[in-house]
Amino acid sequence: MKNRIYLSSPHMGGSELKYIHEAFDTNWIAPLGPNVDNFEKDLAYYLKINDVAALSSGSASLHLALILLGVKNDDEVIVSSFTFSASANPIVYQNATPVFVDSEEETWNMSPEMLEYAIKDRIASGKKPKALIIVHLYGMPAKMDELLKIANDYQIPVIEDAAESLGSKYNGKGTGTFGKFGILSFNGNKIITTSGGGALISDNPEMIAKARFLSTQARDSAPHYQHSQIGYNYRMSNIVAGIGRGQMEVLTQRTEQRRNNFKFYKKILGNTDGITFLEEPDNRFYSNYWLTTILIDKDKTGFDCNDLRLAFEKENIESRPLWKPMHLQPVFEKYPVYKNGVSEKLFNTGLCLPSGSNLTDEEKARIEEVLNNMINFKY
Ligand SMILES: *Cc1c(COP(=O)(O)O)cnc(C)c1O
Repeated sequence: MKNRIYLSSPHMGGSELKYIHEAFDTNWIAPLGPNVDNFEKDLAYYLKINDVAALSSGSASLHLALILLGVKNDDEVIVSSFTFSASANPIVYQNATPVFVDSEEETWNMSPEMLEYAIKDRIASGKKPKALIIVHLYGMPAKMDELLKIANDYQIPVIEDAAESLGSKYNGKGTGTFGKFGILSFNGNKIITTSGGGALISDNPEMIAKARFLSTQARDSAPHYQHSQIGYNYRMSNIVAGIGRGQMEVLTQRTEQRRNNFKFYKKILGNTDGITFLEEPDNRFYSNYWLTTILIDKDKTGFDCNDLRLAFEKENIESRPLWKPMHLQPVFEKYPVYKNGVSEKLFNTGLCLPSGSNLTDEEKARIEEVLNNMINFKY
C-alpha cells in the first residue's frame, strides 16, 4: 500500500526542538515561561497588534472571549451555522443560546443579509443578541465590511473565529484583528500547530490581561491562594509554546505553500465544467487557503463529491466532506436558525482536497492522477 496522504498534517519548520530544549535546560516546564512570552510577542508582531494571550486551545480562547463579553445564562449569541462545532460549543458552556445564521455563496461565510434579518427578528421577539461570532472558514475571510457595518449599526460586539485563517488578510489587515476579540487555533491540523493550543486577540490590552488572569485560575494578588472569581486552567504550556515559536518562523512560507496547493488544483480542475472553487471574490480578500475546497455539480461532471472521495480513498489519499452545518447537527437542532439553503447545498456537493503545506511532488502526482482519471471518466 502506498503511504497515506493526509488532508492537512503538521509541518515542522526546524527550530521547534531548539526552543523545547531551551525550556528543559532552564526547567521552564510550566504553563508560563519565556517561550509563552516570546510566542505571544511573535504573534502580536505578525498581526500588528499590541498583545495576545496564548492559551490551551482555540475553544478555550473563544470561551474566555464570551466570558469577557459578559455572556451568561439565557443570552443569545449569533454564530455562523457553516463551521466546526467548536465555534458554537463555548456558547453552550455559558448556558447561553446559539442562534445560527447561514452563509452566502461567495466566501461561504456568514451572509450579511441573513445576519441583519436574524438580528431584527431576535430584537422583535424581545432579545437583542449579546455577541456575534464570525468565522473565516477554510482560511477565506468573511465579508467584513458588510458584517461589521451591521454589527455596528446594532451595537453588537464581534468575536472573529480565525482558527483556520492565520495568515489570511482582509483589506490588508490580518483576520482576527477586526472584532472586539479574535481567536486562533494551533491544533494539529491547522496552518501552524503547537500540537494543541490557541490564542486570544483583543483590541483592548486590559482584556488580554484579564484573559491571562482568568486562564490561570483567577488568582487574586495575595501571598496565599485567594479567589473572588471562578477561574480556568486555560494557559498555554511553555513546552508547546516552543513549537509555536519555531512555527512562527515559517508561517509566511506555509501560507505560500497552501496558496500554491490552490493553484495546483486550479490548474488541473479549473476548466472542468461543473467544478467550482472557493476562491477570493475580489482583491479585498487574501486567503491562506488552509484547505482547498471545491463544489461538484454531478449533472455536469458525472460524478459527485462522494465518488471523488472514494476514488481518493482507494489510493490511500484522504479528502473530506465540507463541514456539516450546525443547524443539522443533532446536538444543536433545538436552537434557532436563519437559513437560506446555502450551507446545506455546500455540504451536499463539496469536498476538501488534500492541502498540507508538506505535500511532495510525488504525492501531488498521485493526487493529479486520481483527478485526471475522474474528469476523463476513467473510473
Ligand atoms: C479548530 C477550530 C476551532 C477550535 O480550535 P481548537 O484549538 O481545536 O479548540 C474553532 N473554530 C474553528 C472554525 C476551527 O476550525
